[in-house]
Amino acid sequence: MLPYARQSVDESDVAAVAAAVSGDYLSTGPAVARFEADLAGWTGGHPAVAVTSGTAALHTAYAAAGVGPGQEVLTSPLTFVATAATAALLGARVVFADVDERTGCLDPAAAAAAVTDRTTVVTSVDYAGLPADMDALRAVADRAGALLLEDAAHSIGTVWRGRPVGSLADLTTLSFFATKNLTTAEGGAVVSTSPELFARAASFRNHGLVRDRGEQRWPDEGPWHQEVHAFGLNYRLPDVLCALGSSQLARLAGFVARRAEISARYDAALADVAEVRTPARPDDAQVAWHLYPARVPAEVRRALFEHLRAAGIGVQVNYIPAHWHPAFADLGYRRGECPVAEQWYREEISLPLFVGLTDDDVDRVCELVRGFFAA
Ligand SMILES: *Cc1c(COP(=O)(O)O)cnc(C)c1O
Repeated sequence: MLPYARQSVDESDVAAVAAAVSGDYLSTGPAVARFEADLAGWTGGHPAVAVTSGTAALHTAYAAAGVGPGQEVLTSPLTFVATAATAALLGARVVFADVDERTGCLDPAAAAAAVTDRTTVVTSVDYAGLPADMDALRAVADRAGALLLEDAAHSIGTVWRGRPVGSLADLTTLSFFATKNLTTAEGGAVVSTSPELFARAASFRNHGLVRDRGEQRWPDEGPWHQEVHAFGLNYRLPDVLCALGSSQLARLAGFVARRAEISARYDAALADVAEVRTPARPDDAQVAWHLYPARVPAEVRRALFEHLRAAGIGVQVNYIPAHWHPAFADLGYRRGECPVAEQWYREEISLPLFVGLTDDDVDRVCELVRGFFAA
């Protein structure tokens, strides 16, 4: 079986993990701060706080933004459910706005029509690695008095209009799950352009503990004293995994380049298959492609999926519209609310895309797609 995604772990990664696991720290040690500093090298210098997953990053970012009951978080339904679920868990109402037909990213016009005076965060999703029109979304968020959050689980390494992911929104969340562009097995990070939001995210990651005497309410309690000013969680990413993260970051430029080559090879090989729509490639973005989201006529998508799976090709569908999940349906969300995203879902099939995929693998997948439509 050819997987649809696979991590790239080499000897340098193994050596980094081995050094960390046999060192003095397993949980929080020097590799954490090093990884966070290394991440800032990719975000335009904006600081990062490492957490245990992309989901934890979203939860932390929403908590830092003060999301809670009575508020609305506006986002795209064409995403992994965690983008919306973490806001719902904090008590906010999630408002789904439709996506741009060409890119699958949150449509600024749809977002502008859906914001209200209760909107506190507008969350954009870098679908497949490509950011939405962040300048237009910034204007929408500013007019609503809301913060702009970018779920960049797919897109570390992407540069949009000359600016790297991490510098485009007030809060940016990353995922280092095994299938993502860069992995720490499980892991994630929150990046912020705002020192106040960043401080709140860093505090939430570690129970909200205040250890600095100058900031404590009762500093004379004793040298052991620490206190909690705002509740948080333990979302600390261990030293061992941060060591893997730094090692992977040193390879990220190569990952991005290989992903771009594979993506372009699919484009070229599928260009003359009339039934296949290849991904849009706006010329103002250098994209770190996480997915290769092809679109085919909805009535044959399932048959093509089964044809490829039967031939040992690990394809996927990204994504079941978030508001279709029963947990949202039970809250009153209905199919048909976001017709563009829903049609995208019906037509979408993600072809394998990972660093270790060979040109021959790509050609074989394309031959199978071609054969399916020729039959
Ligand atoms: C993977 C992903 C997440 C969640 O990240 P985890 O690290 O798996 O928790 C959130 N949003 C999007 C768009 C994702 O692809």
